[in-house]
Amino acid sequence: MNDFRADLHCHSTCSDGTSTPTEIIQLASSLNMQGISITDHDTIAAYEEAVPAAKNANLPIISGVELSSVHKEEPIHILAYSFSLGSPAIAAFCQRHQERRVTRYQRILDLLASKGMPIPEGKASSSSKHSPGRPHIALAMVEQGYVENIPQAFHYFLGEGKPCYVPSASFSVEETLAVIHEAKGLAVIAHPHLIKNIGIFKDLLDLPFDGIEGYYARFPASAHDRWVKIGLHKGWLITGGSDFHGCIKPNIPLGCSWANGETFSQLYDLFLRNQE
Ligand code: AMP
Ligand code: ZN
Ligand code: FE
Ligand code: FE
Repeated sequence: MNDFRADLHCHSTCSDGTSTPTEIIQLASSLNMQGISITDHDTIAAYEEAVPAAKNANLPIISGVELSSVHKEEPIHILAYSFSLGSPAIAAFCQRHQERRVTRYQRILDLLASKGMPIPEGKASSSSKHSPGRPHIALAMVEQGYVENIPQAFHYFLGEGKPCYVPSASFSVEETLAVIHEAKGLAVIAHPHLIKNIGIFKDLLDLPFDGIEGYYARFPASAHDRWVKIGLHKGWLITGGSDFHGCIKPNIPLGCSWANGETFSQLYDLFLRNQE
């Protein structure tokens, strides 16, 4: 069981990744991973394709999604796992996110146009229909020649506080946790490594989470210890994942962080029970 690896955090073309759900399953199999969850931003659209693809590849898969939320104006990402894929609560919540995202996306395009950087209709619509986001706009800006690369687009225009930034007007952490639990899923604090404000993190510790993403992306083992310790202290699940996005984040390969076999089996058992 020691070499068991399940990558529980990656993004497909259903949000801002560049690999299709089927390509992710095939890649995970070719890397000899024993489990996977596709955690697109605010959509579970990948599962229609991913579930049969995983069955074909004989790769255990669990439901997953990375929900955007806000706490005291700070964006907080929450990973949800093992919920029922047929849950009306999750479907309705993802629908609300999609509406919020489409509105925000258009506001950002309007700001860019007002600064002399229009994105042609066709380019804009080539982004994800389920979960349009800033990376899609950044990519269109590169294609239009307004910036050289995606990090530049964020640095000069799209990042927080930059001239074309539009806050996400997302939902609260509490509301997000209630939806996840209504769908019988488990809620996990995503990449605590990236939460800069310690007060905000402490607030999260008092909320009804079920786990923490102790192992994340390519952070060194020493950077994981703190989060793993906190998770153990809380009696939470300790999950792990790469946050693979394909070519838009070329230095983050699938499987560079993972959950162990014990954690995966707990999530997998719950997933199977919830689909009955
Ligand atoms: P959105 O959900 O539309 O707010 O976009 C957030 C996504 O943009 C994140 O999940 C990252 O994948 C990406 N992102 C955020 N900041 C940067 C950055 N500075 N450089 C490149 N990508 C970024
Ligand atoms: Zn992303
Ligand atoms: Fe995230
Ligand atoms: Fe992510």
